[in-house]
Amino acid sequence: MAVSEQTVARAASLRDELNRYNHHYYTLDAPLVSDAQYDSLLNELRAIEAEYPELRTPDSPTQRVGSAPLGKFPKVQHPVPMLSLGNAFNADDLAAWRRRAEQIIGTQPMRYTVEPKIDGLAVALTYINGVFSVGATRGNGEIGEDITANLRTIRDVPLRLQPIDGQPLPERIEVRGEVYLPIEAFNQLNERQAHAGEKVFANPRNAAAGSLRQLDSTITASRPLRFFAYAVGPFSGVDLNSQAETLNSLRSYGFSINPDTRLFDDFAAVVDYCHEWMGRRELLSYEVDGVVVKIDDFAMQRELGVVGRDPRWAIAYKFPAREETTTLLNIVINVGRTGKLIPNAVLEPISLGGTTVQHASLHNADYIISRDIRIGDRVVVKRAGDVIPYVIGPIVEARTGNEQPWPAPTFCPTCGQPVEQLADEVDIYCINNACPARLIRSIEHWVSRGAMDIVGMGERQASQFVEMGLIKSIPDIYRLNIASFAGREGYGDRRVANLLNAIEESKQRPLDRVITALGINGVGTVAAVDLARYFRSLPALAQATIEQLTAIDGIGGSTAQSVVDFFSTPANQQLIAELLALGVQAEPGDVAEPQSDRLAGKSFVITGTLPGISREAAQALIEAHGGKVGGSVSKKTNYLLAGDAAGSKLAKAQSLGVIVLSMDELYALLADS
Ligand code: NAD
Repeated sequence: MAVSEQTVARAASLRDELNRYNHHYYTLDAPLVSDAQYDSLLNELRAIEAEYPELRTPDSPTQRVGSAPLGKFPKVQHPVPMLSLGNAFNADDLAAWRRRAEQIIGTQPMRYTVEPKIDGLAVALTYINGVFSVGATRGNGEIGEDITANLRTIRDVPLRLQPIDGQPLPERIEVRGEVYLPIEAFNQLNERQAHAGEKVFANPRNAAAGSLRQLDSTITASRPLRFFAYAVGPFSGVDLNSQAETLNSLRSYGFSINPDTRLFDDFAAVVDYCHEWMGRRELLSYEVDGVVVKIDDFAMQRELGVVGRDPRWAIAYKFPAREETTTLLNIVINVGRTGKLIPNAVLEPISLGGTTVQHASLHNADYIISRDIRIGDRVVVKRAGDVIPYVIGPIVEARTGNEQPWPAPTFCPTCGQPVEQLADEVDIYCINNACPARLIRSIEHWVSRGAMDIVGMGERQASQFVEMGLIKSIPDIYRLNIASFAGREGYGDRRVANLLNAIEESKQRPLDRVITALGINGVGTVAAVDLARYFRSLPALAQATIEQLTAIDGIGGSTAQSVVDFFSTPANQQLIAELLALGVQAEPGDVAEPQSDRLAGKSFVITGTLPGISREAAQALIEAHGGKVGGSVSKKTNYLLAGDAAGSKLAKAQSLGVIVLSMDELYALLADS
């Protein structure tokens, strides 16, 4: 069938568009579009070329990796091209890849290495008689840039190879691997760039590439780049026959080899390991965008060869994207309980990590202003693990001129009073204690389940009662009576009676819950229990000194300071006096009185939905037996109490070897010991 003019034109326009994106991504380290958008256009071009092979030009982005270097650095011709990798997104794609390989080399026993796919940039390091002589970027796969001086600044790049057991070093060997920037270093770098008025990088990969291709190697040296070796190019004077053997030798020569690399001889185990990696990705200090499966044997690799720009003997199992680009429609401000102004991004909806994202955090005013994020900007949004989606920064190159800079607020958007920013703080605060937004947030917190747990009062009632003028302060909750609701639509006798009962009943909440409800900075449910156990009454806690507070295990200096600050504020002293006068008991109660010390010294984390018991009740049970409950799993966690639908905490506990308990096992532990 003859190819239509329209198709010819579409192929040409896709090539142009993709080549432009390649230039921005590979050469300028500042992508214009998200990877997902790029990949979808590339796939469209691939589909056209598959149907009409005559449209496949040699310079098509489907046939070439990367893009031409800028010419800042001397060029290096790669003796063996540096390739890309084909992609798999599920077990079927992996199985199809293996079948294609078997069609060429036949069904025979095969071994596979599986390595994390580090999201950085590929480089080639040439060693002559064991001495690092030239290091180059992948460039367009055939020709890269000579960045030897910059590579020398990376501490994982050995300048001299260590001999293995007295064997001669290879006369010449090209070691390939990935230069990457750890996530923490990436965040710090972006923070510095933003404050210096420089561009922020879209992701650690672009930041690593930008850092490595600096003309001034002292700049590269100031960025803590790292390197994992994962392959060899041409070599002579040594005998290497498989990927696993190569990685072992590279390790002995002094290279960092990724510790999560595995060798399998069973394909089902390969697929399992790929799946296992999805959860593990969140636990690493660097970005991994997939795992790479390689047929281990070099003779098989040679027989399989290359198709287009991808080796047939390897495949990347890609994880779902965590970054997307979209338009920032607006910036709205929420006022928190403490008066903190919290800016939020309203986005043109995008699909990210399986859900639709329309809102994202912008952290604080300083973040927006230092990054010059403007309303109407195309922005990069990231969603990783349990973290709330957030805006990384604007795509400055995509501006049309219609974007509106965002002025930092000088007045509270709710009460209209002037706001305050302390000299060395990034946050802006509404300092009006009577600000309705602050009051509403405080009430929401006061009535919440982990605090005073007043059933029938939630977000809606909090704002309604404030708007109706029924509540002007927290103690007003306890001043509500039947007359308050007389003639109010939607508040029938029964509803009012239930609500007043729930309020009355909440006066019996034990001391630790009252302390939680007060919302003292840094005092969550765990610290509240510690404070209740030690001080046993609100007046005693109100007298506490920094020394007494910091003597309690688990209470640090800044928490102690905020407790002291809280109780020395006259408005808070008044609040406590009113609450006690209105009948709030704040008795130490059961939780503060350990029932046993069977779990003394043991730290727990709770995750998932527990059968027949709320998380709060399970926490109270653990604490009543002397255990502690924390929020995140670490090496110091003794037990993870896991219910249904446990997520990343379970994966983390398993990877750290933390004991995972079911609710039944917890009961058994309490009964046995
Ligand atoms: P790739 O990054 O998908 O895979 C190949 C690369 O994986 C290798 O070059 C190497 O650098 C790396 N790698 C990491 N660990 C490895 C290991 N253990 N073994 C072997 N290789 C390993 O391919 P690519 O061609 O470099 O880039 C394609 C990607 O870049 C796609 O995700 C695409 O969306 C993105 N891209 C985006 C834009 C944009 O404008 N947003 C433009 C171009 C490319």
